[in-house]
Amino acid sequence: MRWPSTWSDNFPICGNKRQSPINIASSEASVQLSLEDITMTGYDKPIAMSIRNNGHTAQVDITSGDAFIENGGLPGKYKLLQLHFHWGSNNDKGSEHTINGEQFPMEMHLVHYLTSAGDVGQSVTLSEGLAVIGFMFEISDDDNEKYTNIISKLTTITEYSSGSSVSVQLPEFAVGDLLPNNPRHFYRYFGSLTTPGCDEIVVWSVFKEKIKISKRQLGEFRKLMSSEGGNLQNNFRPVQPLHDRVVRANFNVADTDDSASEEK
Ligand SMILES: [Zn+2]
Repeated sequence: MRWPSTWSDNFPICGNKRQSPINIASSEASVQLSLEDITMTGYDKPIAMSIRNNGHTAQVDITSGDAFIENGGLPGKYKLLQLHFHWGSNNDKGSEHTINGEQFPMEMHLVHYLTSAGDVGQSVTLSEGLAVIGFMFEISDDDNEKYTNIISKLTTITEYSSGSSVSVQLPEFAVGDLLPNNPRHFYRYFGSLTTPGCDEIVVWSVFKEKIKISKRQLGEFRKLMSSEGGNLQNNFRPVQPLHDRVVRANFNVADTDDSASEEK
């Protein structure tokens, strides 16, 4: 993939005004406690998944079993399709969204489509067709054992193979195991895909609660190879202008201690 600043040459939507990611300035967020919590169903049950190196990320596809999100101000019920990661070449960068200007070493995106659309193909034609929930990572001394299922398989997808990338089955586990304990607090805004064509079809929820990962575990992601040759790292798009959008929060931003995070 070419450098993001040139994307809009070939993908004009990438230069539009509802792009992602963004910097989230917590003091500018509109606090709307009426948004309430996002309800996650099926996140607590083991489901079948596979992982592949698609050349620009490690992507976990749901192969059977259902997990959904709804409520929390979402305009419908959304079904989990895949999750993937963005990371840096060092611990100072990696996430796509930044919070108060801070970039985190990794960000996970769980991509869901609007079930009422019928299928993914229909949902991606709608301005709220996808709901992505994002989580930031922070470095911990100890390995996060909940990530062993994924990280132990990364060595089997080191190489990107052009055309159909190789999928490797994962042991069944609950997707909720990958999340922080009881994630509740999120920022909401309307944005886009962060890769071309940058379609402006995403309802974003970026959570405040972070996930812990060790330096060793993060290093395993950096060993993957990209579709252009060389290590797959810094696979994040820079933050885009907010323009006239408002970021909402479902929690009282001022009351929150940003240093508090939970380990799972
Ligand atoms: Zn992503």
